[in-house]
Amino acid sequence: MKIETQCLHEGYTPKNGEPRVIPIYQSTTYVYNSTDAVADVFDDPQLGLIYSRFENPTTDAVEKKIAALEGGVAAMCTSSGQAATLLSILNICSAGDHFISSSSIYGGTVNLFAFTLKKMGIECSFIDVDASEEDIKAAIRPNTKCIFGETIANPALTVLDIEKWANAAHSAGIPLIVDNTFATPILCRPIEWGADIVIHSTSKYMDGHAVQVGGVIVDSGKFDWTASGRFPGLTEPDESYHGVVYTEKYSHAPYIIKARHQLMRDFGCYPAANSSFLLNLGLETLAVRMKQYCENALKVAKYLEASDMVESVKYAGLESDPHYQTAKKYLPDGVCGVISFSIKGGRKKAVKFMDSLKLASNEVHVADIRTCVLHPASATHRQLTEEQLEAAGIDAGMIRLSVGLENVDDILADVDQAFKAARD
Ligand SMILES: *Cc1c(COP(=O)(O)O)cnc(C)c1O
Repeated sequence: MKIETQCLHEGYTPKNGEPRVIPIYQSTTYVYNSTDAVADVFDDPQLGLIYSRFENPTTDAVEKKIAALEGGVAAMCTSSGQAATLLSILNICSAGDHFISSSSIYGGTVNLFAFTLKKMGIECSFIDVDASEEDIKAAIRPNTKCIFGETIANPALTVLDIEKWANAAHSAGIPLIVDNTFATPILCRPIEWGADIVIHSTSKYMDGHAVQVGGVIVDSGKFDWTASGRFPGLTEPDESYHGVVYTEKYSHAPYIIKARHQLMRDFGCYPAANSSFLLNLGLETLAVRMKQYCENALKVAKYLEASDMVESVKYAGLESDPHYQTAKKYLPDGVCGVISFSIKGGRKKAVKFMDSLKLASNEVHVADIRTCVLHPASATHRQLTEEQLEAAGIDAGMIRLSVGLENVDDILADVDQAFKAARD
């Protein structure tokens, strides 16, 4: 199946007389006909469902669909993108471990990596997104467990050279985790470029309609945990799960099965069936929506670039953008609907412009179906220090414009009138 078809048909195939659409299985639990049957599923949780804290048939269908879209072997949904990021790291790092991240990542992820995980004894080194393969390799230590980056960074909009980062990681026998939220599998499938684990905030384009927060982790099934020798959590018996060795018992997808039956069991940040049902509706139209976001955003980016009110535009679809060539390689069909630009006159002008917009809404969201704007320095990145802001590629005049699916002429007219208002 081509990806447009996968969006509609993967994950759920009704049998004779069954509902056309995946039902909302609004049940906390699942019934068995004997105590032994229950014992059997505890022995091998792949045999049946146990409890909706970590598995549910509606969510399962969505997980299968996303795994197929990304070209992975299995996926696990989470109740937010933050939970997906957290579990993707905790699944392979514990106190005393270290990992590496591109510094060009989402502000919430910076907080998690730089402060919260640090308190848990897990240290993160941040490296420039354009660092050389040698520089990345040089940062790898004996206790380094993974490398992390964002395909298209939110909001810096840099593009990750996935192959380079994957090569650096694999040279040391560690996996590359890629946050593919902004690209979605429609524009880029990081696993095809060497990523081992892919995560998403499904709250963005995948949901698309701003109706529910969620996340997902996808396992490529390709990383050789045993050969690496760095991951006893996967290759040695799990005391908390009657001594199971994930790489032996679940060799097709040990990473995601460990994440579900150990971490999700213990942390319980699993989405509700109703949320997964809504996420599925968003996924069904993802392919058509992404094409239109890209088309609209390129027109808006070109308009901004030509405006005398604008200091600089970041959109890797523009030839002038430093990541244009990288985008051409990894994102040949477009670079999503999000544009960052800096207005001349800094913070004051940015605020005036944003407050003058009529169609575009001022909201803490991005990748909505409707055009929206955000001032990162006052909102999502407010907790970052000046140095961290700079490393994340953010200045005080920067505006993140998430171009929606309105007619692009209406979006341009709104931007134009707000520029006029900000000029005075
Ligand atoms: C929003 C976002 C997250 C966090 O996801 P939530 O669903 O808001 O918890 C992580 N990564 C990226 C790139 C994001 O845009």
